[in-house]
Amino acid sequence: MSNETEFARARAVIPGGVNSPVRAYRSVGGTPRFLVSARGAYVTDVEGREYIDLIGSWGPALLGHAHPDVVAAVQDAASRGLSFGATTPGEAELAELLRERTTVRGTRLFDSIRLVSTGTEATMTAVRLARGATGRDIVLKFAGHYHGHSDGLLAESGSGVATLGLPGSAGVPADVAALTIVLPYNDLAAIEAAFAAHPGRIAAIITEAAGANAGVLVPDDGFNRALSDLAHREGALLILDEVLTGFRVGPAGWWGLEAERADGEMWKPDLVTFGKIVGGGLPLAAVAGRRDVMELLAPLGPVYQAGTLSGNPLAVAAGLATLRGADADAYARIDRSAAILSAAVEEAFASAGLAVTVSRAGSLFSLAFRDRAVRTYDDAKDQDAWRYPAFFTTLLEAGVSLPPSVFEAWFLSAAHTDLELDRITAALPAAVRAAARA
Ligand code: PMP
Repeated sequence: MSNETEFARARAVIPGGVNSPVRAYRSVGGTPRFLVSARGAYVTDVEGREYIDLIGSWGPALLGHAHPDVVAAVQDAASRGLSFGATTPGEAELAELLRERTTVRGTRLFDSIRLVSTGTEATMTAVRLARGATGRDIVLKFAGHYHGHSDGLLAESGSGVATLGLPGSAGVPADVAALTIVLPYNDLAAIEAAFAAHPGRIAAIITEAAGANAGVLVPDDGFNRALSDLAHREGALLILDEVLTGFRVGPAGWWGLEAERADGEMWKPDLVTFGKIVGGGLPLAAVAGRRDVMELLAPLGPVYQAGTLSGNPLAVAAGLATLRGADADAYARIDRSAAILSAAVEEAFASAGLAVTVSRAGSLFSLAFRDRAVRTYDDAKDQDAWRYPAFFTTLLEAGVSLPPSVFEAWFLSAAHTDLELDRITAALPAAVRAAARA
């Protein structure tokens, strides 16, 4: 078996050979690695080659792959049945744990929470709730932010949409797209202008808590609070998307980092979405928020949402075990690794004289081939992205698996130790030289 033969086989029966576009290596070239196993900081492909993994399943693998406690919890749950289509005690247990983790200095991020299976469902439901709560139709989103692949949220989206250079998606009716207004990130004047242009019609602002799907886009100081103030002044809701940042950049996500630093009363979103880590590697995500808004959901209220596998007992078990393992020590280790590795990347490029900017939001970071800071999607696109494939491929050949797109953040885990960081650092100079020659 080889990656090439597996890819040929997959392409004959699966569009592009992949079940999610970024996996196809379209922007970096070469053959995607077909993985057969993963443990700790490593993944292994069909050819038996091991790579230090900096994708972490795009976020869930906070503790490293196949953490023994998580695997044991899933095995134990599986032995009692895979899915019941009925409520199980673990669901309230997970809901309580998530609420407790996101209570900072006495302020709860949310009152109640519904479990779904993907981040896409979580944000889609949040938007429907916001519309149901306000009786308004328009949603404001930011260019370069990704909120999953529901119709209304794909315009100028990050992640694979950015990687493939698409403005949005075919198949989205113009009438639906017209209900999404895309604004530049970190630009409060643009938001004021949108509210002024559409009085009484904007249901919600949706924002990534910190942008991490066009590379890392750090919110300016006070930006999220200003979004909350503006939305509330205008009778709209704020939807904070913590699918990627939640339980990764800290125990209470990006909101928690801001809450720890806030003096005075903390701002709060009306709705918040989670995914990735909350399911510990199995399909689980969530939409949460203010009680009055959440209780608009069926069966209590008129906003419908449902799921055959929602709150699946295996996913709940994996999420609980992952969150229980995510203690202060795990976060401290991941933060330290991010500081070391991002500095090593900066240093390797600096000594080769090639301009890059490393953007960092907590333990999430990404690099951009330009010499100025990246605050918006336009900034992220204005870089020598064509240098990334050579950088990526050189590292891959050296046994380091980076995200196959310059528009994605690098994901570390608590299983990455100095050994892995040293090995990555040692592989950097050759990759930087390859990028410089590209
Ligand atoms: N929101 C954000 C911020 C994300 O990063 C993602 C996925 N990367 C999603 C939503 C969608 O989640 P899913 O892929 O589980 O549908």
